[in-house]
Amino acid sequence: MADDAPAPPKINTSVPHPARIYDYLLGGKDNFEADRKVAEATVAASPGVLQGVRDNRAFLGRAVRFLAEQGIGQFLDIGTGIPTQGNTHEVAQAVNPAARVVYVDNDPIVMAHARALLRSTPEGRTAYIEADLRDPDSILDHPDTLATLDFTEPIAIVIVGTLMYVDDKEDAFGVVKRYTDAVVPGSHLAITHVTADFEPESLEAFAEAYNSTHEMLTLRTRAEIMRFFDGFELVEPGMVGLSQWRPAPGEDSYRRTHGAYGAVGRKL
Ligand code: SAM
Repeated sequence: MADDAPAPPKINTSVPHPARIYDYLLGGKDNFEADRKVAEATVAASPGVLQGVRDNRAFLGRAVRFLAEQGIGQFLDIGTGIPTQGNTHEVAQAVNPAARVVYVDNDPIVMAHARALLRSTPEGRTAYIEADLRDPDSILDHPDTLATLDFTEPIAIVIVGTLMYVDDKEDAFGVVKRYTDAVVPGSHLAITHVTADFEPESLEAFAEAYNSTHEMLTLRTRAEIMRFFDGFELVEPGMVGLSQWRPAPGEDSYRRTHGAYGAVGRKL
Protein backbone atom coordinates (compact mmCIF):
# COMPACT_ATOMS: atom_id res chain seq x y z
CA MET A 1 0.00 0.00 0.00
CA ALA A 2 1.56 3.31 -1.03
CA ASP A 3 1.94 5.81 1.80
CA ASP A 4 -0.17 8.37 -0.06
CA ALA A 5 -3.07 5.91 -0.52
CA PRO A 6 -5.93 6.38 1.96
CA ALA A 7 -5.49 3.95 4.82
CA PRO A 8 -8.51 2.00 6.08
CA PRO A 9 -10.09 3.55 9.17
CA LYS A 10 -8.53 2.81 12.57
CA ILE A 11 -5.06 2.29 11.11
CA ASN A 12 -2.24 4.12 12.83
CA THR A 13 0.41 3.99 10.14
CA SER A 14 3.10 5.42 12.41
CA VAL A 15 3.05 2.35 14.67
CA PRO A 16 4.63 -0.84 13.26
CA HIS A 17 2.23 -3.78 13.11
CA PRO A 18 3.14 -7.50 12.92
CA ALA A 19 0.82 -8.16 9.94
CA ARG A 20 2.45 -5.44 7.85
CA ILE A 21 6.01 -6.22 8.94
CA TYR A 22 5.41 -9.84 7.88
CA ASP A 23 3.83 -8.68 4.63
CA TYR A 24 6.92 -6.61 3.81
CA LEU A 25 9.27 -9.50 4.64
CA LEU A 26 7.22 -11.76 2.32
CA GLY A 27 7.55 -9.18 -0.49
CA GLY A 28 4.02 -7.70 -0.17
CA LYS A 29 2.86 -4.11 -0.61
CA ASP A 30 0.51 -3.67 2.35
CA ASN A 31 2.91 -1.92 4.67
CA PHE A 32 4.02 1.54 5.76
CA GLU A 33 7.28 3.27 6.57
CA ALA A 34 7.14 2.30 10.27
CA ASP A 35 6.68 -1.38 9.32
CA ARG A 36 9.45 -1.32 6.72
CA LYS A 37 11.88 0.25 9.18
CA VAL A 38 11.38 -2.56 11.69
CA ALA A 39 11.48 -5.23 8.96
CA GLU A 40 14.73 -3.87 7.51
CA ALA A 41 16.30 -3.64 10.97
CA THR A 42 15.45 -7.31 11.60
CA VAL A 43 16.99 -8.38 8.28
CA ALA A 44 20.15 -6.38 9.04
CA ALA A 45 20.38 -7.97 12.49
CA SER A 46 19.52 -11.51 11.36
CA PRO A 47 19.57 -12.10 7.59
CA GLY A 48 18.01 -15.56 7.97
CA VAL A 49 14.66 -13.91 8.74
CA LEU A 50 13.81 -13.74 5.02
CA GLN A 51 14.10 -17.51 4.69
CA GLY A 52 12.32 -17.87 8.03
CA VAL A 53 9.15 -16.07 6.91
CA ARG A 54 9.00 -18.16 3.73
CA ASP A 55 9.49 -21.33 5.78
CA ASN A 56 6.69 -20.21 8.08
CA ARG A 57 4.25 -19.62 5.23
CA ALA A 58 5.23 -22.94 3.63
CA PHE A 59 4.63 -24.76 6.94
CA LEU A 60 1.13 -23.25 7.09
CA GLY A 61 0.31 -24.70 3.68
CA ARG A 62 1.71 -28.16 4.45
CA ALA A 63 0.03 -28.31 7.85
CA VAL A 64 -3.41 -27.29 6.52
CA ARG A 65 -3.16 -29.75 3.61
CA PHE A 66 -2.12 -32.51 6.03
CA LEU A 67 -5.06 -31.74 8.32
CA ALA A 68 -7.55 -31.64 5.45
CA GLU A 69 -6.17 -34.96 4.20
CA GLN A 70 -6.72 -36.40 7.70
CA GLY A 71 -10.39 -35.57 7.30
CA ILE A 72 -10.47 -32.34 9.32
CA GLY A 73 -13.10 -30.17 7.65
CA GLN A 74 -13.14 -27.17 10.02
CA PHE A 75 -10.41 -24.61 10.70
CA LEU A 76 -10.11 -21.75 13.17
CA ASP A 77 -7.15 -19.75 11.84
CA ILE A 78 -6.09 -17.17 14.43
CA GLY A 79 -3.59 -14.54 13.29
CA THR A 80 -4.48 -14.96 9.64
CA GLY A 81 -2.21 -12.32 8.15
CA ILE A 82 -2.76 -10.30 5.02
CA PRO A 83 -4.04 -12.69 2.35
CA THR A 84 -1.28 -13.94 0.08
CA GLN A 85 -0.68 -17.18 -1.79
CA GLY A 86 -1.88 -20.40 -0.19
CA ASN A 87 -4.45 -19.01 2.24
CA THR A 88 -5.92 -21.57 4.64
CA HIS A 89 -9.34 -21.81 2.97
CA GLU A 90 -7.75 -22.23 -0.48
CA VAL A 91 -5.47 -25.06 0.69
CA ALA A 92 -8.19 -26.79 2.73
CA GLN A 93 -10.92 -26.42 0.10
CA ALA A 94 -8.57 -27.75 -2.60
CA VAL A 95 -8.58 -31.03 -0.65
CA ASN A 96 -12.16 -30.83 0.60
CA PRO A 97 -14.41 -28.28 -1.14
CA ALA A 98 -16.81 -28.41 1.83
CA ALA A 99 -14.11 -27.36 4.34
CA ARG A 100 -15.10 -24.40 6.52
CA VAL A 101 -12.72 -21.74 7.83
CA VAL A 102 -13.02 -18.92 10.35
CA TYR A 103 -10.23 -16.38 10.09
CA VAL A 104 -9.31 -14.07 12.96
CA ASP A 105 -6.90 -11.14 13.00
CA ASN A 106 -6.68 -7.84 14.85
CA ASP A 107 -5.30 -5.74 11.99
CA PRO A 108 -7.99 -3.76 10.12
CA ILE A 109 -5.89 -3.97 6.93
CA VAL A 110 -6.16 -7.75 7.06
CA MET A 111 -9.93 -7.35 7.47
CA ALA A 112 -10.22 -5.08 4.41
CA HIS A 113 -8.35 -7.54 2.18
CA ALA A 114 -9.98 -10.62 3.60
CA ARG A 115 -13.47 -9.23 2.93
CA ALA A 116 -12.59 -8.66 -0.71
CA LEU A 117 -11.02 -12.11 -1.06
CA LEU A 118 -13.86 -13.93 0.66
CA ARG A 119 -16.51 -12.43 -1.58
CA SER A 120 -15.34 -14.99 -4.11
CA THR A 121 -15.80 -18.00 -1.81
CA PRO A 122 -19.05 -19.94 -1.38
CA GLU A 123 -21.45 -18.41 1.14
CA GLY A 124 -21.16 -19.82 4.67
CA ARG A 125 -17.91 -21.77 4.24
CA THR A 126 -15.47 -19.02 5.18
CA ALA A 127 -15.86 -16.22 7.72
CA TYR A 128 -13.62 -13.45 8.90
CA ILE A 129 -13.63 -11.86 12.36
CA GLU A 130 -11.68 -8.83 13.45
CA ALA A 131 -10.80 -9.67 17.05
CA ASP A 132 -7.95 -10.01 19.50
CA LEU A 133 -6.80 -13.55 20.20
CA ARG A 134 -6.22 -12.54 23.84
CA ASP A 135 -10.00 -12.29 24.19
CA PRO A 136 -11.11 -15.89 23.41
CA ASP A 137 -14.77 -15.25 24.29
CA SER A 138 -15.05 -12.61 21.56
CA ILE A 139 -13.95 -15.25 19.05
CA LEU A 140 -15.50 -18.46 20.37
CA ASP A 141 -18.90 -16.85 21.00
CA HIS A 142 -18.94 -14.71 17.87
CA PRO A 143 -22.09 -15.34 15.79
CA ASP A 144 -20.01 -15.87 12.63
CA THR A 145 -17.87 -18.49 14.40
CA LEU A 146 -20.95 -20.30 15.64
CA ALA A 147 -22.62 -20.09 12.22
CA THR A 148 -19.54 -21.49 10.44
CA LEU A 149 -18.04 -24.09 12.79
CA ASP A 150 -19.68 -27.05 14.52
CA PHE A 151 -18.01 -27.47 17.92
CA THR A 152 -19.39 -31.02 18.31
CA GLU A 153 -17.06 -32.13 15.46
CA PRO A 154 -13.21 -31.92 15.33
CA ILE A 155 -11.76 -28.52 14.50
CA ALA A 156 -8.18 -27.58 13.62
CA ILE A 157 -6.98 -24.57 15.59
CA VAL A 158 -4.26 -22.92 13.53
CA ILE A 159 -2.10 -20.32 15.30
CA VAL A 160 0.84 -19.95 12.96
CA GLY A 161 3.44 -17.22 13.40
CA THR A 162 1.30 -15.45 15.98
CA LEU A 163 1.75 -16.66 19.57
CA MET A 164 5.03 -14.77 19.93
CA TYR A 165 2.92 -11.59 20.04
CA VAL A 166 1.33 -12.70 23.31
CA ASP A 167 3.67 -12.55 26.28
CA ASP A 168 3.57 -14.48 29.53
CA LYS A 169 2.13 -11.53 31.47
CA GLU A 170 -0.85 -11.79 29.11
CA ASP A 171 -1.12 -15.49 29.98
CA ALA A 172 -0.33 -16.88 26.53
CA PHE A 173 -0.72 -20.47 27.81
CA GLY A 174 -4.07 -19.78 29.49
CA VAL A 175 -5.31 -18.06 26.32
CA VAL A 176 -4.47 -21.05 24.12
CA LYS A 177 -6.04 -23.41 26.63
CA ARG A 178 -9.35 -21.56 26.25
CA TYR A 179 -9.35 -22.51 22.55
CA THR A 180 -8.14 -26.05 23.06
CA ASP A 181 -10.71 -26.64 25.83
CA ALA A 182 -13.49 -25.53 23.45
CA VAL A 183 -12.88 -28.32 20.89
CA VAL A 184 -13.64 -32.05 21.02
CA PRO A 185 -11.06 -34.89 21.13
CA GLY A 186 -9.72 -35.59 17.63
CA SER A 187 -9.36 -31.86 17.05
CA HIS A 188 -5.91 -30.57 16.14
CA LEU A 189 -3.63 -27.67 17.02
CA ALA A 190 -1.01 -26.30 14.59
CA ILE A 191 1.56 -23.84 15.90
CA THR A 192 4.75 -22.21 14.72
CA HIS A 193 6.80 -20.12 17.12
CA VAL A 194 10.07 -18.22 16.96
CA THR A 195 12.84 -19.54 19.18
CA ALA A 196 16.48 -18.84 19.98
CA ASP A 197 17.12 -22.58 20.57
CA PHE A 198 18.92 -23.17 17.26
CA GLU A 199 20.78 -19.90 16.73
CA PRO A 200 20.79 -17.91 19.97
CA GLU A 201 22.85 -14.94 18.83
CA SER A 202 21.06 -14.39 15.55
CA LEU A 203 17.56 -14.77 17.03
CA GLU A 204 18.28 -12.56 20.01
CA ALA A 205 19.54 -9.89 17.59
CA PHE A 206 16.35 -10.40 15.53
CA ALA A 207 14.11 -9.99 18.58
CA GLU A 208 16.01 -6.93 19.76
CA ALA A 209 15.63 -5.28 16.34
CA TYR A 210 11.95 -6.26 16.15
CA ASN A 211 11.26 -4.80 19.58
CA SER A 212 13.39 -1.67 19.13
CA THR A 213 10.44 0.71 18.73
CA HIS A 214 7.64 -1.31 20.36
CA GLU A 215 7.90 -4.36 22.57
CA MET A 216 6.00 -6.94 20.52
CA LEU A 217 7.75 -10.23 20.26
CA THR A 218 8.59 -13.01 22.77
CA LEU A 219 11.02 -15.82 21.93
CA ARG A 220 10.20 -19.18 23.52
CA THR A 221 12.14 -22.40 24.11
CA ARG A 222 11.03 -25.82 22.92
CA ALA A 223 9.82 -26.72 26.42
CA GLU A 224 7.78 -23.53 26.62
CA ILE A 225 6.19 -24.06 23.20
CA MET A 226 5.38 -27.67 24.16
CA ARG A 227 3.18 -26.30 26.98
CA PHE A 228 0.71 -25.02 24.36
CA PHE A 229 0.14 -28.68 23.38
CA ASP A 230 -0.92 -29.76 26.86
CA GLY A 231 -3.53 -32.55 26.36
CA PHE A 232 -2.44 -33.10 22.75
CA GLU A 233 -0.27 -35.79 21.16
CA LEU A 234 2.11 -34.47 18.50
CA VAL A 235 1.85 -36.06 15.07
CA GLU A 236 5.07 -37.16 13.35
CA PRO A 237 7.71 -35.76 13.18
CA GLY A 238 6.92 -33.88 16.42
CA MET A 239 8.18 -30.38 17.07
CA VAL A 240 10.98 -29.57 14.64
CA GLY A 241 12.55 -26.72 12.70
CA LEU A 242 10.01 -25.44 10.18
CA SER A 243 11.51 -26.90 7.03
CA GLN A 244 11.83 -30.31 8.69
CA TRP A 245 8.08 -30.70 9.29
CA ARG A 246 6.78 -33.06 6.59
CA PRO A 247 8.67 -31.42 3.69
CA ALA A 248 7.10 -31.93 0.28
CA PRO A 249 9.12 -34.06 -2.17
CA GLY A 250 11.97 -31.94 -3.48
CA GLU A 251 11.78 -29.39 -0.66
CA ASP A 252 14.96 -28.73 1.29
CA SER A 253 14.45 -30.37 4.66
CA TYR A 254 18.09 -30.52 5.66
CA ARG A 255 18.68 -26.98 6.87
CA ARG A 256 19.98 -27.21 10.40
CA THR A 257 19.59 -23.55 11.23
CA HIS A 258 16.11 -22.46 12.13
CA GLY A 259 14.48 -19.50 13.75
CA ALA A 260 11.22 -21.23 14.59
CA TYR A 261 9.61 -24.52 15.54
CA GLY A 262 6.52 -25.98 13.93
CA ALA A 263 4.27 -28.74 15.24
CA VAL A 264 0.81 -30.22 14.87
CA GLY A 265 -0.91 -32.06 17.72
CA ARG A 266 -4.10 -34.13 18.05
CA LYS A 267 -6.35 -33.66 21.07
CA LEU A 268 -6.54 -36.79 23.21
N1 SAM B 1 -0.67 -16.94 10.12
C1 SAM B 1 -0.13 -16.20 8.99
C2 SAM B 1 1.04 -16.95 8.43
O1 SAM B 1 1.65 -17.72 9.16
O2 SAM B 1 1.38 -16.74 7.25
C3 SAM B 1 0.27 -14.77 9.40
C4 SAM B 1 1.35 -14.65 10.46
S1 SAM B 1 1.78 -12.98 10.82
C5 SAM B 1 3.48 -13.14 11.25
C6 SAM B 1 1.05 -12.74 12.43
C7 SAM B 1 -0.40 -12.29 12.39
O3 SAM B 1 -0.93 -12.31 13.73
C8 SAM B 1 -0.59 -10.86 11.88
O4 SAM B 1 -1.50 -10.85 10.83
C9 SAM B 1 -1.08 -10.10 13.08
O5 SAM B 1 -1.97 -9.04 12.73
C10 SAM B 1 -1.76 -11.18 13.89
N2 SAM B 1 -1.83 -10.86 15.31
C11 SAM B 1 -0.84 -10.46 16.14
N3 SAM B 1 -1.30 -10.27 17.38
C12 SAM B 1 -2.63 -10.56 17.34
C13 SAM B 1 -3.67 -10.56 18.32
N4 SAM B 1 -3.41 -10.21 19.58
N5 SAM B 1 -4.90 -10.91 17.94
C14 SAM B 1 -5.18 -11.27 16.66
N6 SAM B 1 -4.23 -11.29 15.69
C15 SAM B 1 -2.97 -10.95 16.03
